[in-house]
Amino acid sequence: MSSETIDSQRLSGWLAEALDEENPGPPRILKHDLQADVCIVGGGFTGLWSAIEIKTARPDAEVVLIERLLCGSGASGRNGGFVLSFWAKFESLAKMCGPDEALRLCQQSSQVIAELQAFCLRHGIDAEMRLDGWLWAATSRRQIGAWDSTVDTLAALGQRPFESLTPDEVARRSGSAQHLAGVFEAASATLQPARLARGLMRHALRLGVKIFEHSPMVRLQRDRPATVHCAQGSVQAHRVILAMNAWSARFVELRKAFVLVSSDVVMTHPVPDLLHDIGWHNGMSISDSRMLVHYYRTTPDGRIVFGKGGGSEDLIYGGQLDQQLDGPSRIAGTVRTHLHRIYPALQDSDIATHWTGPIDRTRNGLPHFGALPGTPHVFYAIGYSGNGVGPSMLGGKILAALALGLDNEWARCGLVKPLRRDFPPEPLRYWGGRLVRQAVGQIDRAADLDQPAPWLARQLSRLAPAGLSPTVSSAPAPKAPARPAPRTPN
Ligand SMILES: Cc1cc2nc3c(=O)[nH]c(=O)nc-3n(C[C@H](O)[C@H](O)[C@H](O)COP(=O)(O)OP(=O)(O)OC[C@H]3O[C@@H](n4cnc5c(N)ncnc54)[C@H](O)[C@@H]3O)c2cc1C
Repeated sequence: MSSETIDSQRLSGWLAEALDEENPGPPRILKHDLQADVCIVGGGFTGLWSAIEIKTARPDAEVVLIERLLCGSGASGRNGGFVLSFWAKFESLAKMCGPDEALRLCQQSSQVIAELQAFCLRHGIDAEMRLDGWLWAATSRRQIGAWDSTVDTLAALGQRPFESLTPDEVARRSGSAQHLAGVFEAASATLQPARLARGLMRHALRLGVKIFEHSPMVRLQRDRPATVHCAQGSVQAHRVILAMNAWSARFVELRKAFVLVSSDVVMTHPVPDLLHDIGWHNGMSISDSRMLVHYYRTTPDGRIVFGKGGGSEDLIYGGQLDQQLDGPSRIAGTVRTHLHRIYPALQDSDIATHWTGPIDRTRNGLPHFGALPGTPHVFYAIGYSGNGVGPSMLGGKILAALALGLDNEWARCGLVKPLRRDFPPEPLRYWGGRLVRQAVGQIDRAADLDQPAPWLARQLSRLAPAGLSPTVSSAPAPKAPARPAPRTPN
C-alpha cells in the first residue's frame, strides 16, 4: 500500500466543514520506531472510541493510533449522521446471540445515544446532535409492514421501542405524501459526523493517545509483540486493534465475513423555507424499507442530506479498496432522482455537494468483533453494515475490554464470535455478488412501480446480506392503503 494524500475534492462535505472550523496544523506523520501497549490502526469512530476507552480505564497505558489519511476521513466523517440503536435489527441479533443478550445489546445501543449527547456536552464537542427520533417508513405499497415482524417479536417480549403512526401522521411529519406508512423510534438522533470524529480525536489527544495521520499501515507483522509498519516508521505493540472498517478487506481472514458496497450521499444548500412549507422541520430522520435503503435527514441550518445504500452495481474485486470509494459519488444523478421523488419541490440548483463511501456488510447485517485466528493479540471490528455511528461506541467498549484482557460483559458480549466464511472466495464473490446486487436493484425498482419482482431476482436476493428487514423482498404486497400509491419516475 502506497503513501496516500487527500485533496479537498475528495473530502466529504461534512469533513471539509469540520476541518474549516478546526483549521488543523499539518498532520503529524509517523517517522520513527515506537513501542506501545496498544497500537490502533484506523482513526474513525471505532479506533477513536477504543483509544478513549483504553486510556480512561488505564491512563498509564501507552496507546498509539495511526490513520491512513485524516481522522474522520473514512466512513466516520462522511456518513448520514443517523445515530440509531440496534432495535430494528433485533431479530438478526437474537439469531446471532440469543434473545436475552440481544435485548441487552439493544438496550445498551439505545442508552449510548443519550450517553453520547452527555459526552459531547462534557467535552465541548459541538456535533450538532439532535435527539429527534427516526422514522422507519414505506415509500411503496410493497414496503408496508417491513417492520411488522420485528415490532411483534419485541412486543411479545414486552418491548415497545417503536410507536405506530397513522399514514396521515407519517406523511405530515415527514413532509411528503410518498411516505405511506411507518413506525417511529424516539430514542434515535442525528449529528454532524465529522465534527464528532474530529472532536473524539481532540479528546483522545488530551488523554495522551499518540495520533499519527497520513501514516497508513503498509504491513502487519504478527509476532508477539506485533509490529505495525508504516512507510517511514513502525509501532511495536503488545496488542493491535484493526479498526479499519471496509479497508480491513485486505486481510483474507476478515474479508470472507463481509462484502464491500458503496453508500452515496447528496447534500443540499440550506432550504429552511421549503422544509417549513412541507412540514419537515422536526429533526426526525427517515429510512425507507427498500433492500438498497434510502436514508435522509435535515441539518439544524435546514439542509437535506439524502443517502442511498448499495451504490452502483460495480463491486470491488478482491477486497482491494484503497481509494476506490473515496471522493464524489459516481451515481449522484440517480441519488438526486430518488431525492426528487420524495421531495419534488427541490430544484437541481438546491444540490450543493455529493460523495461516496464504503460499507462493510456482513451476512446478518451486524458487526463482529474478535481476535484474528491464530493471533490472539490482534483484534478486529468489522461489519457495522451501515449502522455504525451509535454502535461504534459499543465497539470501543468491546475492543478496549479485549485489548486490556478484561473478563467483563463487553469481552463476553454476543457480538464477539469466531469468524466464519459467509461469502465465497474470488472470482465467485465478485461475479456472484454482481448478480445478487442486480437482483436486489430489480426488486426495488419493481416495488417502486408496484409490480411483483421477477422470480429469479427474488431467488437471488435471498443471498443478499440482511438489511433492516430481511424479509421484505419476498413479502406479498399488502392491501392498498387509504391513499393511492405514488407514481414513480424510474
Ligand atoms: C456514505 C455513508 C453513509 C453512512 N451513513 C450512516 C448513518 O447515517 N448512520 C450510521 O450509523 N452509519 C452510517 N454509515 C456507516 C458508518 O459510517 C460506519 O459504520 C462507521 O463510521 C464505522 O466507523 P469505523 O471507525 O469502524 O470506520 P471508518 O470511519 O471507516 O474508519 C476506518 C479508518 O481506517 C483508516 N485506514 C484504512 N486503512 C488503513 C491503513 N492501512 N492504515 C491506517 N489507517 C487505515 C481509514 O482511513 C479510516 O479512517 C455510513 C457509511 C457511509 C460510507
